[in-house]
Amino acid sequence: MMRVPMPTLKELEKFAQYHLVRRVHDHPAREEELGVISLGYDAAGFEAEVRALGDRFDVREVAHPSYRGKAHTIFSIATKNRARAKKRLLVLSGVHGNEHAGIVCVPEIARRLLEASEALGDVAVEILTPVNPVGAAELSRFNAEGYDVNRDFVLFNTIEARAVRDAFESMKPDFVVSLHEGPQDATFMFANQHVTRDLADRLLAALVKGGTTLAVKDYFGATLRPAGLSPSSAAARAVMRLWSATLKMMPTGEYAARRGIPELTLESGWRSPDRDARVRPHVDLVLAVAHELARPA
Ligand SMILES: [Zn+2]
Repeated sequence: MMRVPMPTLKELEKFAQYHLVRRVHDHPAREEELGVISLGYDAAGFEAEVRALGDRFDVREVAHPSYRGKAHTIFSIATKNRARAKKRLLVLSGVHGNEHAGIVCVPEIARRLLEASEALGDVAVEILTPVNPVGAAELSRFNAEGYDVNRDFVLFNTIEARAVRDAFESMKPDFVVSLHEGPQDATFMFANQHVTRDLADRLLAALVKGGTTLAVKDYFGATLRPAGLSPSSAAARAVMRLWSATLKMMPTGEYAARRGIPELTLESGWRSPDRDARVRPHVDLVLAVAHELARPA
């Protein structure tokens, strides 16, 4: 029989912090004990890179969360084929600000989308980045008021969650990819119940082909079968229903699920100092999903 280690009090406190309260602090607090290695996200440099995409993409400022009197910007970067597109992909980048790989990957994703624009002509892509720009600048999971944005999809107290909701409503995406990182040692993805196993297998193969190492355990220590995939289960969905009904907390994956939209939440390993290894899966997954959407039905 497999021995299940008992969680420590510290681990239970951590779990409670993320799962029992939407507002964890009153400011964009940093995590000291989870071993997050910063990729040196620089807000001004990143904004300049995003604005420079404006000649080839539709770049808009969609919201301005502020912290200590300074306004930060959530950008929308959209391909210019919206009017004729048959499929629409929404990418959420940096919902948790301290998960830098999911943000600094964006210029490379844009470059690769342009490179593939002929093959992807019928697929419109919109990237919201960073969804939590205050957290990104402060190396914090949380927004300026200390909310975990990815728990706020019932009550929408945060400007960041409202910006994501607006993107869902205006774009009506066929697929959503949310770019995250976690304390596990390699990369995996959560799939909501609208992602088919066949599709997930093809996307995992695309990640491996690009050189990504798939995690065999998620960050709770649960074994992933297959490696790299945490699929939706009936039990997890029941917990989610109870959780959202009682505590009014919901992540984007469930918000998408309730609209019948498949969503993948990618988690690269934030303990790695290897920038390429952390950024690559985000780029490869977004491109692989876009190519899947371009396949004839
Ligand atoms: Zn996250």
